[in-house]
Amino acid sequence: MPGKWRLIRRWLTLVVCLLLTAGCSAFYKGEEQSVTKTLAAVTSDPAAAAASSPAPLTIRQGKAIPILYYHGISDTTYGLEEMFVRPAEFEEQMKYLHDHGYTPITFDDFEMKAARLEKPVVITFDDGYRDNLINAYPILSRYGFPAVIFLCTDFIGGGSILTVQDIKQMTGLISFQSHTLDHGSLTALSPEEAERQLKQSQSILRELTGQPVNAIAYPTGYYNSITLEITARYYKYGVLAGGGVFYFDPAKQLEMVRVYIPRGLNLSGFEQKLLGLTL
Ligand SMILES: [Zn+2]
Repeated sequence: MPGKWRLIRRWLTLVVCLLLTAGCSAFYKGEEQSVTKTLAAVTSDPAAAAASSPAPLTIRQGKAIPILYYHGISDTTYGLEEMFVRPAEFEEQMKYLHDHGYTPITFDDFEMKAARLEKPVVITFDDGYRDNLINAYPILSRYGFPAVIFLCTDFIGGGSILTVQDIKQMTGLISFQSHTLDHGSLTALSPEEAERQLKQSQSILRELTGQPVNAIAYPTGYYNSITLEITARYYKYGVLAGGGVFYFDPAKQLEMVRVYIPRGLNLSGFEQKLLGLTL
């Protein structure tokens, strides 16, 4: 009899063990399924994902915002040759930006877009050569790329510089910003004259385009602490003549470095500059 009881006990233990194992595995399977379902819901529903992580409202410190720095876009040169990028080079550079997911922005919507976009870029031209309209504007229009032209207001309509008519035609896609009245070095002028240059060029451009003017390109990139103090009264953004990729810093919005694009730069050189690997 005791032998029979041992057998029954062993059999009962076995049944209990089997039941427990089955229960556990069913429980884990259920949990696994619900985890998979949750993951699917997060990854396949962009609206739900957006709701759980809203777009940032401020620009992250250190975010890369390349500000490209061009002058003329022309095969023929009249002045310092490297300042005239060939139209074919410019075209392949714009195609590169398009193909690599960059979104051009301007200083009109800088804060909002630079915060939200993954790969913002600013395309800028200094001095306002007419070839910007003839050679660059059609390419920018084709890609729907907004850009910024920094103008010296005293020179508008003179020689190889954009006319009032040209400026009105391009306003919309192009944001016209200040490069002072006559390209004088702001550090060499009296504070009163520097202020006049900054203030008057701003009001002339505002009147001409009907658009906000909140950015200045310091002529030849020259500035000092007095320049910054005066500039801050009128402008929100100030750009320099080169220096590489701008990594966002709210304390440096009046001293933003730019990525200089010279004539003859090949696409891999362009890419290296854009990624901040070279100045
Ligand atoms: Zn200039």
